[in-house]
Amino acid sequence: MIFDAGNLCPCGSGQSYAMCCSPFIEGEPAPTPETLMRSRYTAYSLGEVAYLRATLGGGKPSVTA
Ligand SMILES: [Zn+2]
Repeated sequence: MIFDAGNLCPCGSGQSYAMCCSPFIEGEPAPTPETLMRSRYTAYSLGEVAYLRATLGGGKPSVTA
């Protein structure tokens, strides 16, 4: 999927992706629970599976690949 960082962020914040969730998906710690949830939603939208796995919190995955 091709997604331009200047597009509106999929999380619905109204900001561009580059100014919103991109830094967290790139590895910055999310400062608030809301930010984390937004960035996880964005990662889901963009297929950033590695980020979703990294932020699941260490429990056993409910589905094994
Ligand atoms: Zn966002």
